[in-house]
Amino acid sequence: MGKILIRGARVLGGEPQDVLVEGQTVAAVGAGLSAEGAEVVEAEGKVLLPGLVDLHTHLREPGREDSETVLTGTRAAAGGGYTAVFAMANTFPVADTAGVVEQVYRLGQEHGYCDVQPIGAVTVGLEGRKLAELGAMHESAAGVTVFSDDGKCVDDAVIMRRALEYVKAFGGVVAQHAQEPRLTEGAQMNEGVVSAELGLGGWPAVAEESVIARDVLLAEHVGSRVHICHLSTAGSVEIVRWAKSRGIDVTAEVTPHHLLLTDELVRTYNPVYKVNPPLRTERDVLALREALADGTIDIVATDHAPHPHEDKDCEWAAAAMGMVGLETALSVVQETMVDTGLLDWATVADRMSFAPARIGRATGHGRPVSAGEPANLTLVDTAYRGSVDPAGFASRSRNTPYEGRELPGRVTHTWLRGKATLVDGKLA
Ligand SMILES: [Zn+2]
Repeated sequence: MGKILIRGARVLGGEPQDVLVEGQTVAAVGAGLSAEGAEVVEAEGKVLLPGLVDLHTHLREPGREDSETVLTGTRAAAGGGYTAVFAMANTFPVADTAGVVEQVYRLGQEHGYCDVQPIGAVTVGLEGRKLAELGAMHESAAGVTVFSDDGKCVDDAVIMRRALEYVKAFGGVVAQHAQEPRLTEGAQMNEGVVSAELGLGGWPAVAEESVIARDVLLAEHVGSRVHICHLSTAGSVEIVRWAKSRGIDVTAEVTPHHLLLTDELVRTYNPVYKVNPPLRTERDVLALREALADGTIDIVATDHAPHPHEDKDCEWAAAAMGMVGLETALSVVQETMVDTGLLDWATVADRMSFAPARIGRATGHGRPVSAGEPANLTLVDTAYRGSVDPAGFASRSRNTPYEGRELPGRVTHTWLRGKATLVDGKLA
């Protein structure tokens, strides 16, 4: 690998600088660096960020390769500016053994678009009854540090307590999909004014908030670390804020769609808006934005959930829950957080790279853009505006809620350890 000079980029949104990459490493950052022997990427006016890190991606392989594979999912990730993704465990078979997590990890390495860090299941088969082999998954070649039954809640308090105790020994973390199962039986959308008018089964905020309250208290009791997936309500924000003020070791994520969309969209009955947890109210959206800005919510995570069209192009009640998100996440964050003045680019780098890498212990990712660091980088044309066209997605699935919507920002280049995975908006 040779030399690359990224010329005149606004590093983390600051003053224009040159960034010289040699091999897999950032060699120098400064003004007027020599381009001798280097391939030059003109980056005037663009923002250079550390490669993005997604703590919550569904890659679907093994078992649901009709919706996504490690290859198509990591190509989508590279297209969205990501250099590392954490792959959720709800595959077929479930990633609850060292064998499955090593397979997913190796596929990511072989394809070379984006590092894949598998998440291990908390319980065998995601059934919530018996702890999976957490230690064996941690000690495997995949080095699993994040465990989650995502898609399902670890609702048994004793199992949750044991999982928190177990991961504490090696600095791991349990990522909870907070959904009280009995309170959400038959749920089709957010419980509120719109669900009452439409006559659809409601998914009440308390079903999320009660689990988060229990789990932060369990984490405190055990002295362990808990991460809350996809916060969606104003009440959840208040509980996490309270827990952090008490010194409880809790982190939390929000998805781009929960920062932008509300349950009013369900009136269209378009299943593209069906997601779990559901789209909430305007008040919730504003509380989530404020919490991401003040750091109560640590990170943005996509919950990229690809589904084939036959699982989404049907009536609302029968449709699968979930949205793809890797290729639009940064644009939605620019729209909701940067262009509104709530976050600057340096803080976006924290919420989408530094902090998720720290929570998931993703070695070599979420590092500053400075000499000696791994060259995991993403270059963004923040002046761009354009409408979302899913036909151009690298993901195998098209279930985006943003089709035809105009959004700002476009990732033009992504580098994984100095190797270009995206060049001028095209996958390498
Ligand atoms: Zn989930």
